[in-house]
Amino acid sequence: MLASKLYSPTLRELPSDAVVMSHKYMLKAGMMRKIANGTYAYLPLAFRSIQKIENIIRTEINKTGAQEILMPIIQPAEIWQATGRWNVYGEEMFKLKDRHGRDYCLAPTHEEMVTTLIQMDTNSYKKLPVSVYQIQNKYRDEKRPRFGLMRSREFIMKDGYTFDADEEGMNKQYELMYDAYTRIFTRCGLKFRPVIADSGAIGGNASHEFEVLADSGEADIVYCKDCDFAANIEAVKPNTLTSDVKNDKEKEIVQTPGQHTIEKVCNYLHLPVKSSVKAVVYKLDDTVVLAMVRGDHEVNEVRLQSIYNAINVDMASDEDLKACGLTAGYISPIGLKTSEHFDIICDASVMEMQDACCGANVKDEHYIHVNPARDFGNVKVDTIRQIDAGDVCPHCGGKIVLTKGIEVGQVFKLGTKYSEKLDATFLDNNGKSRPMFMGCYGIGVTRTVAASIEQNHDENGIIWPVAIAPYEVVIVPANNKSEDVMKAAEGLYNALESSQDEIVFDDRAERAGIKFKDADLIGYPLRVTIGKKWQESGCVEIKLRRTGEVFEVPYENCVEKVE
Ligand code: ATP
Ligand code: MG
Ligand code: MG
Ligand code: MG
Repeated sequence: MLASKLYSPTLRELPSDAVVMSHKYMLKAGMMRKIANGTYAYLPLAFRSIQKIENIIRTEINKTGAQEILMPIIQPAEIWQATGRWNVYGEEMFKLKDRHGRDYCLAPTHEEMVTTLIQMDTNSYKKLPVSVYQIQNKYRDEKRPRFGLMRSREFIMKDGYTFDADEEGMNKQYELMYDAYTRIFTRCGLKFRPVIADSGAIGGNASHEFEVLADSGEADIVYCKDCDFAANIEAVKPNTLTSDVKNDKEKEIVQTPGQHTIEKVCNYLHLPVKSSVKAVVYKLDDTVVLAMVRGDHEVNEVRLQSIYNAINVDMASDEDLKACGLTAGYISPIGLKTSEHFDIICDASVMEMQDACCGANVKDEHYIHVNPARDFGNVKVDTIRQIDAGDVCPHCGGKIVLTKGIEVGQVFKLGTKYSEKLDATFLDNNGKSRPMFMGCYGIGVTRTVAASIEQNHDENGIIWPVAIAPYEVVIVPANNKSEDVMKAAEGLYNALESSQDEIVFDDRAERAGIKFKDADLIGYPLRVTIGKKWQESGCVEIKLRRTGEVFEVPYENCVEKVE
């Protein structure tokens, strides 16, 4: 590909809603353009990356025995009414009417559709299992579409569905998919974690999310440093973290109510996640309590009372608050029992506050101020660290750590929830009618592109994992006034013909500085420069985007080296 022909119109001025790096860089590098709120046109650079991810998905999902299909995006209301989700989905669902006044929706997901489809022709145990998937647009009228491809209203999803005769079969499929997902995200070159996910009404540990680890992620994850326990905090029931350590009073910590309270309060107040909020953790009777006070936002007593009613947490009494030197706030037990008195005042983001309150990352002392100035007994920083140590893994007793993740995929055991409501039954070998056991498995393809950028970038631009980079190599003639240099660069491009589909030749009449800047921004894993060095010594410079390492290679050996 010639850079002069590549349709990647770079942007100088970024819109103010571009706050995360993937959104910024994708616009800046001309990878996509916004059409309307939460909808984007993918330009060639983005689309190539999308297609590479799709191909990795296809290869790995095909290995599980699943077959690719394509189902309608426009779906009749009836199938959604049958499962009750026409109303449950609420405003997140795009609804429309046809010319006869019939109700339809744009599919936010396909459980109803695929169950309806499979039940048409699968009536005997002999035809099971069935495993199908598709890669296609999904539509969700998100409350807050934001962060570019991370949370858009139209996005590409791979969604797969399995149908089995019994639970055992379903479990097997789930494992196959779980393993395939692990291979997919590994091949994409991402650092990720499968975590136990909230399985909602279904119960049990019947779902996992695959989370790409990145600070900008919207999911809060706890994981153990010593074993493979990892969970989305939404899925950690209050007792999960304490179940195995009941006898150890000092270590009895229940994390989630505190965290949820903060989240609930912040959501209720519409506090942006990074707004500065003050919190105090202190001891009240035998329970350590969390008090929230106003941050950037004024909250008056009346409002506090109404929020307290809405989210159902205990309001702090004036005396409690006075004891903390506060004028207004909430108190909610976070369930930590300790014999020590202490207080922590956080002037920090909500996340940092959460970390502080449940004891993880509290070593980062810049946002923890212990106030011995107040009479809480023997307050020591060490005491606060104790909370950290008290956070224990339910599996191995190891140390629990909090981090942020971007949900790029989720696998789910559905059981018979949909098959019962949509008559997806079959005759077993005794001629008895039974509902099929289902599983569903999604990957956010476009979100994966964004997540990979969130995880892999620097101040100059994107650092693609090679497997999903739009192009792998850029050849830069550094002095386009020199005919020799241009010829040599072009010669190299032509010599690399066999892998040319992965190479951009920067033939533009631009200064070397601009070409280098663009190369870093777009994030080609390999940059091959032909310039001064070549003129002096016949050597070509090969630079790795990720490490910045530079190799000088004689021009003659370059083809072999690059390939
Ligand atoms: P989230 O918790 O981020 O709202 P979800 O749990 O609602 O996501 P699923 O229903 O599990 O999403 O859909 C499967 C996958 O589709 C998700 O794991 C995610 O990667 C992707 N996805 C979901 N919503 C969006 C969106 N608005 N924009 C881009 N990708 C999305
Ligand atoms: Mg969602
Ligand atoms: Mg989710
Ligand atoms: Mg999900």
